[in-house]
Amino acid sequence: MNSRVFHRHCHSTLPVAVRGEGAYLFDQNGKAYLDASGGAAVSCLGHNHAGVRAALHHQIDSLAYAHSAFFTTESAELLADKLAEHAPGDLNHTYFLSGGSEAVEAALKLARQYFLEIGQPQRTRFISRRQSYHGNTLGALAVGGNIWRRAPFDPLLIPAEHIAPCYSYRDKRAHETPFEYGQRVANELEERLLVVGPDTVIAFIAEPVVGATAGALTAEEGYFSRIREICNQYGVLLILDEVMCGMGRTGTLFAHEQEGIHADIVTIAKGLGAGYQPIGAMLASDRVYDAVSNGSGFFQHGHTYMGHATATAGALAVLNAIQNENLLPNVVHKGNLLMDRLHQRFAENVHVGDIRGRGLFIGLELVKDKETKQPFDPVTQLHARIKNRAMELGLICYPMSGTIDGTHGHHILLAPPFIISTEQVDELVDKLGNSIESVIKEVTS
Ligand code: PLP
Repeated sequence: MNSRVFHRHCHSTLPVAVRGEGAYLFDQNGKAYLDASGGAAVSCLGHNHAGVRAALHHQIDSLAYAHSAFFTTESAELLADKLAEHAPGDLNHTYFLSGGSEAVEAALKLARQYFLEIGQPQRTRFISRRQSYHGNTLGALAVGGNIWRRAPFDPLLIPAEHIAPCYSYRDKRAHETPFEYGQRVANELEERLLVVGPDTVIAFIAEPVVGATAGALTAEEGYFSRIREICNQYGVLLILDEVMCGMGRTGTLFAHEQEGIHADIVTIAKGLGAGYQPIGAMLASDRVYDAVSNGSGFFQHGHTYMGHATATAGALAVLNAIQNENLLPNVVHKGNLLMDRLHQRFAENVHVGDIRGRGLFIGLELVKDKETKQPFDPVTQLHARIKNRAMELGLICYPMSGTIDGTHGHHILLAPPFIISTEQVDELVDKLGNSIESVIKEVTS
C-alpha cells in the first residue's frame, strides 16, 4: 500500500489490520495473527469485547465529549471512584489523560507543584533508573533511563539522575542472596540522594515491573520496601509508573500491590483502555492532592481530551469486565502455564539467556552466549527480525532493544490477553520458538 501515514519506520510496509476477535487480529488478506503482546501490553481483554463495545455505543449515543473545564461526566466519576476504591493506599484522586506519556508528564508536574505548594521550591530534580522507560515526550524522556532513546535529544527538559535498576540476571553478585542484592541496589537511591543533596530532589520514579526497555524485569523481594523507606526518610515522593504493568497485567490490578508498599503518585494507561479508547490516568494520594487543594487550589496543567466521556466509558467497561469475568486468576494461572511452557521450549537453547516476569507479562532476554551473557551485536537487529518472522508466522510479539552497559540488548516481551486459552498458549510458544530459532540460526551461521 502506498501510505501517506508518517510511520515511525519510514520505509516499512505494514499489513492493514481490518478486524480483531478475541486473541486474534486479522489483516486485509484474512490472515490471522495471535496477538501475544496486546500491541504493546494494551489489549488486555482481547479484541472486539461485546461489553466494551456496547458501553461505547451507549456513551456515543448520548454524549461523545464534553470539555473538562465545563463539565464532569458520569463515566469519568464512576471510573475515578472505582480506581480509588481498588488502588492501594490513599490514591483517591484520579486525573484523566489520553495516554502513558501524558500521565507521566502530569505526575512530574504535580510532584513539582506539590513542593512549590509546601514551600520547598529548591526541589527541582528527579531520580529514576537506568533501563527504564517512562514515555517519549521530552519530560518523560528526561526521567527515562534508556540511553539510546534519550541521547539524540539531549539536553532534556528536567534534571534527572539515574541509578541502577534491580536487574539480578545481569548484576547480582554470586555471593549475594536475592534479598541482599535488592537491598544493595535500593541503597543506591540513598547514596545518590546524599551526593546531589536530598532536599534538591522531588521524586523517585520507577516501574514496579520494567516493561519496554528490559522485558518484564521484576524487583527482588524487599527492594521496593527499602525504596519507600528511603523516600520517607528524605521527604522524597515516590512515583510508580504502572502504564505498562498495571491494570491486572501482573495478576493484581495494580502491580505494586505485590510489593506491599504505597505510592504518592501512580500512572496508568495501556490496559486501562485496553485499546478500545486512548486513555491514561494519574492517581494522586491525599497528601499530594491536599497540598494543591489547600494551597493554590489549582493544578497548573491540563489537556483538551482529559476526562473524555467516551474514553472513560470504555475504560469503565474494561474494568468491569476484568472484575465481572474474574480475569485476574486467569492472568496468574495462564501466566504460570506460559512461563512453564517457555522454560520447556527453550531449556536447551543457548541464546535464551533469561525468561522472567509476573502474570501475563513475560520477557525473554536473548544473548549471544548463555555462559558469558554477552548480548548480540546491535547490528544484527535481532529483535526486529524476530518480530518480522513472528508476523510471517501469524504471531504478534513485542521486540525491544534495551541498553546493557551502553550496548543494545535484545528482548522479546509477551503480554497476551487475559482471556488467553491453553491452546493459544501452546500456539504462542510454538510460533515464538520457531521465530526465535530460525532467526538466530541465520544470525549465527
Ligand atoms: N510509561 C511506561 C512504563 C511505558 O511502558 C510507556 C509506553 O510504553 C509509557 C510510559 C508511555 O506511554 P505512551 O506510549 O502511551 O505515551
